[in-house]
Amino acid sequence: MNSTVNRILQKAVDGQRLTFEEGVALFECRDLMALGRAADAVCRRLHPEPYRTYNIDRNVNYTNICAAVCDFCAFYRKSHDADAYVLPREELYKKIEETIQLGGDQILMQGGLHPTLKLEWYEELLRDLKSRFPTVNLHAFSPPELWFFHKLNKIPLREVLQRLKDAGMGSLPGGGGEILVDRVRKAMTVNKCLTDEWLEVHRVWHQLGGRSTCTMMFGHIETLAERIETLERLRQLQDETGGFTAFICWTFQPENTAMADVSPVGAYEYLKTQAIARLYLDNIPNIQSSWVTQGPKVGQMALYFGANDMGSLMIEENVVASAGTVYYLSLEQIKSAIREAGYMPRQRNVFYEYVDPAAGVRDQESGGRNQKPESRNSVANGGGQTGTVSLPVLATPES
Ligand code: SF4
Repeated sequence: MNSTVNRILQKAVDGQRLTFEEGVALFECRDLMALGRAADAVCRRLHPEPYRTYNIDRNVNYTNICAAVCDFCAFYRKSHDADAYVLPREELYKKIEETIQLGGDQILMQGGLHPTLKLEWYEELLRDLKSRFPTVNLHAFSPPELWFFHKLNKIPLREVLQRLKDAGMGSLPGGGGEILVDRVRKAMTVNKCLTDEWLEVHRVWHQLGGRSTCTMMFGHIETLAERIETLERLRQLQDETGGFTAFICWTFQPENTAMADVSPVGAYEYLKTQAIARLYLDNIPNIQSSWVTQGPKVGQMALYFGANDMGSLMIEENVVASAGTVYYLSLEQIKSAIREAGYMPRQRNVFYEYVDPAAGVRDQESGGRNQKPESRNSVANGGGQTGTVSLPVLATPES
């Protein structure tokens, strides 16, 4: 490892912000273990608690009908396709009931960009689900959907988000981020929001007091500098709003897509990219492992490459599953993976608040440090739950 890379790693470990050029330079480093050690040191500085977390939710794709065309997507259908669907309401209820029975507290509800469903349809859907399942957080819809609602209905974005929030939307997932560089987005997608629009949805949602996650799907046509550009855009928005709770990255799954000729990247590239993300995103508190695409072993190793969270039990996954290999783990397997890595597993909600007072652990040991109670309370549908304890989060410009 050369002295420049060594200096950059030390800088990140010491809590100093990396420049764009330094981020790019880290991709030239082939020493995966050095990157991992530095990312782990940063992760332990941010999360000194003896826990690593997971949550239980269900991925519900309410429709696969989509007005966009993304070359990397094997999930979407056009309205006339024989297997196009909009999930019947009864089926949605059943999926949520099953999720609750398994200890889940959330559904991740996303779909295609449906060309005819109006905003009122989504408002009624949220109100119906919230009245039937008041304790379940509705983690919905992705920024491309929300931008599409704004365009289709010709209603200002802020009004769209406020109306959906009023109807029960609890938090916003970071789907559709892919690579936040228009060259890449224009080359792979048609009729889907571009970089500034994707970020604007999060910005306005954060301004309304909401929290969201952010994502990066990599390993296709992007350059390494474009991965850093994506991280840079996320870091800038987080400086501005402080509304991102977590970052999740995963590798492109080419099977059954129009980009099936792209060779998928493997575990080395995944762990390296996640480690660099931990070093670069100094203002985003949590990083989730992506065992769904990487498998349990690499997913567990990710806890030593910057991740402090095993993500979701994922009772159901359709989108990535359509495009190739997807791994499934039971709740006990997720907990075992965390224990084997030397941590205590704890269940959290979308706001990174513990929801399972752990036996023998005093909750006040870890709760309450550097948190943003106002913004959490304003969006946490389950925020009033007894026994809910906040995980420590990074201080942000707002706090
Ligand atoms: S990724 Fe989303 S927006 Fe793109 S085609 Fe698939 S469902 Fe539609």
